[in-house]
Amino acid sequence: MLPIIAAGQAQLASSDSALSDHVRLTPTPGHTPDHFAVELGKGETVAVLTGDLIHSPLQARYPEISMRADYDQAASAVTRRKFLECHCDTGRLMCTAHFPSPPPATSPGGATASASCRPAAEAGAAGPGIARLPAPAGGARRMRIGIIGCGVAGSVLAERLLRAPGITVEAYDRLPPDAVEDSGTGLNVGPNAMKALRLHLPARHDAVRAASLPWTRWFIDLASGRRLFDLPLAEVAEDAGIRLRWSELYRLLRAPVAGITRFGLELVAIEEDAVGRLVPVLQAADGARLRPRGYDLLVAGDGRYSALRALAAGPTTPSFHGIAMTRLLVPEAADCPYDDYGQWFNGNARLLSYRLPGGAAYIAGGFPLAAPEAEIPPEARTAAFQRALYTPETGAACPAVAWMVERLAAGVDSIHWARLQEAPLQRTAGAGRVLFLGDAAHAMVPTLGQGATQAIEDGIVAGAVLARGGGAEDVAAWRDTRVGFVRRFSLEATDTMFPGADPVAGSLAKREPEFLAKLRRLYTDVPRPEEFSQ
Ligand SMILES: Cc1cc2nc3c(=O)[nH]c(=O)nc-3n(C[C@H](O)[C@H](O)[C@H](O)COP(=O)(O)OP(=O)(O)OC[C@H]3O[C@@H](n4cnc5c(N)ncnc54)[C@H](O)[C@@H]3O)c2cc1C
Repeated sequence: MLPIIAAGQAQLASSDSALSDHVRLTPTPGHTPDHFAVELGKGETVAVLTGDLIHSPLQARYPEISMRADYDQAASAVTRRKFLECHCDTGRLMCTAHFPSPPPATSPGGATASASCRPAAEAGAAGPGIARLPAPAGGARRMRIGIIGCGVAGSVLAERLLRAPGITVEAYDRLPPDAVEDSGTGLNVGPNAMKALRLHLPARHDAVRAASLPWTRWFIDLASGRRLFDLPLAEVAEDAGIRLRWSELYRLLRAPVAGITRFGLELVAIEEDAVGRLVPVLQAADGARLRPRGYDLLVAGDGRYSALRALAAGPTTPSFHGIAMTRLLVPEAADCPYDDYGQWFNGNARLLSYRLPGGAAYIAGGFPLAAPEAEIPPEARTAAFQRALYTPETGAACPAVAWMVERLAAGVDSIHWARLQEAPLQRTAGAGRVLFLGDAAHAMVPTLGQGATQAIEDGIVAGAVLARGGGAEDVAAWRDTRVGFVRRFSLEATDTMFPGADPVAGSLAKREPEFLAKLRRLYTDVPRPEEFSQ
């Protein structure tokens, strides 16, 4: 360069300037404070020289990985993500200075905002260090799917779509990655969700099962200890269910999609871009707002109080069933006198409990309220009330109930309270541009432990439908008959908890062939992957 400068021919350019009709500089700070990329093409950019903003194909999948020599590693990660978001899906030639030659083998399914962008990986041998960003098949651009809420349904859907050809998937969650609402509770996930995971996402199935205790049995006793019902689940299911902590399920489901998920961003509004795609407005804790590129499909995986459902479909009116629900996690339960899933009735008040991995136990209670819409009375939140509720009039509670009553009385201030409720089913809105999954679509009563279970089924089936080019209405067609059945059956199975119902007769009726046939349908009726290829 020195001879050029000496000859007076050098022109100093700042970033973001055009050198000619064909050559533009664009700021890409990070590797150096004033690093820039070079865009080539008259009017429209057809190629872009990355310089030092990316050094390895790995960084296209994980833009957050910065190189040691970067002047500002955090800034370079942000720059890389923005750069990939801007240029992926466009068919532009990305001329990388540092990628190996020949290009490495195809990288596994995408992650990050640049999941769509498989640089040198799928680029083919365009030449040493040159990667063509995938031109959309058949001239069509890639479908962009944005998921709001990376809980159960959102994480499963995201993983199912990671490797789907022609689809870019990105997810957002309002909480930090390791924070979970209601994390102090246990979950039993039904055999049907485990079957769905086994068939469609076997690696996730194995990880979740390895971290859980098996749910293989369901028994119902009176608080006195009289047994009413005892069912080995193998009689009605092909797979065992599982028992685990909610926070653990989240951790396991979120792990494979961490690269495409941005945490700490809450959906607060939706806008539309110039071509009618939906743009979620996402707010960080400090009030900063992010508007990503528009999505062809926005998926609500944001749970029972879905902001996306409220924004796209209006307010939801839940229906209450006049039953109070309590949940308590007992961290130290080595002396717990039972293991697998049991229920105990004292009148219409019912305890439900099972052990969890790590020596913990989970106790859920339920008791009738004065009226369907009634609030939980303050006196219910006392140790004395909890003791009286589940202790038989004779005073002789069986060892299991006596153990639980002690734990409830001791932990009364840690109890999580709720009222039994459900929301009407809604699957789509915005002329098919919004799809609701899990609790956002169909919050249901928890009696058969199907909330998270159905959220998993939703994520898997929606993923299979979208991956083969279907839309929100197709997901509805695949799912809503089954969801309707599960909701009706869950409410029906709540019968013994309503005021005036006979828990003995109701529990004995669960041995009848009609109830068992419905359980079999519930636990096994899961579509196989090949059904989606027809
Ligand atoms: C105490 C308790 C016990 C339960 N026990 C069982 C059980 O034993 N078995 C069972 O199958 N089900 C159970 N359920 C129900 C089950 O937890 C839910 O049905 C299930 O979690 C629904 O999954 P989802 O993916 O729809 O939503 P969630 O798992 O609730 O995930 C929603 C996600 O969206 C995020 N989010 C919310 N709002 C926003 C926003 N505005 N912007 C961005 N992100 C947002 C949240 O942070 C969260 O990560 C229980 C529920 C509770 C409360």
